[in-house]
Amino acid sequence: MTQSNGKSQLSKRWRADIKDTINEYNFKLEATFDSILTSNARHKCEFCGQPLRYVANIIGHLLNKTTGSALPNNQFYKIGLDCLGLVLGTSWTGYNEAQRQIKVLKTEAAIRARKEKYSERYSKMILWLKDVVELTNNSFLSGMLKILTTGNTVFSSKMEDAVKKCARNKDKFDVTTLRKHRLRVQDILANIQGLIEMIKEGDVISEGDTNNTLIFVESVYKWVQDKNYITEKQSAGLKKVRSRYVVKREKWASINREYKKRCEIPY
Ligand SMILES: [Zn+2]
Repeated sequence: MTQSNGKSQLSKRWRADIKDTINEYNFKLEATFDSILTSNARHKCEFCGQPLRYVANIIGHLLNKTTGSALPNNQFYKIGLDCLGLVLGTSWTGYNEAQRQIKVLKTEAAIRARKEKYSERYSKMILWLKDVVELTNNSFLSGMLKILTTGNTVFSSKMEDAVKKCARNKDKFDVTTLRKHRLRVQDILANIQGLIEMIKEGDVISEGDTNNTLIFVESVYKWVQDKNYITEKQSAGLKKVRSRYVVKREKWASINREYKKRCEIPY
């Protein structure tokens, strides 16, 4: 250990000061935390005195010198990661676990920081993306929106360029046009839903094709729902089904009238 490093000099002193403590207690890792998330944001390492961001709580159980068993007299310390290794040794049982937990805390802190930064820097882009994603289900843009609103990963300049390129593409991603298109699609879906009900009603006079027709119409419904448009072929198919079922319904209505007439009590 070099003397020029202030921390190493300090560590020499701690070693002398706490050597006895280390020998007298059996230390365990109790918890780790990010001090920024606690109301008392100023934490200092109890071994080196340096201010801490990521804190490990360790608890020492006093050992009975003669039997080696732990006594109920406990010692608690708040300590930094560097000191854990320096004071207790990297082979100490809690060392790797503390390192792992602090890595998680750092990852979570980075995510929170990115989320905050993005919500400010890209506030307009986020609003635009929310509209477009809601109207198009575009998976790329929905992925970009997720990154910007969660901060779960870095929003790269390449991603930024790609999103801006989409925003310039008025043919595909103009919000006003998309809203009008959405209304048309909703109309189409409502029509198909009506047809589905008509077919189900027609089941009463099933002529054998109801099931396949229903499967076809429901598949078109799902397709339009997913893709946000209808093909000419699908549209023509639905028209045929509709006219067939209009005839069926009229037939059923006349049969029904006949049936009712027959059931009428003649007195
Ligand atoms: Zn320390």
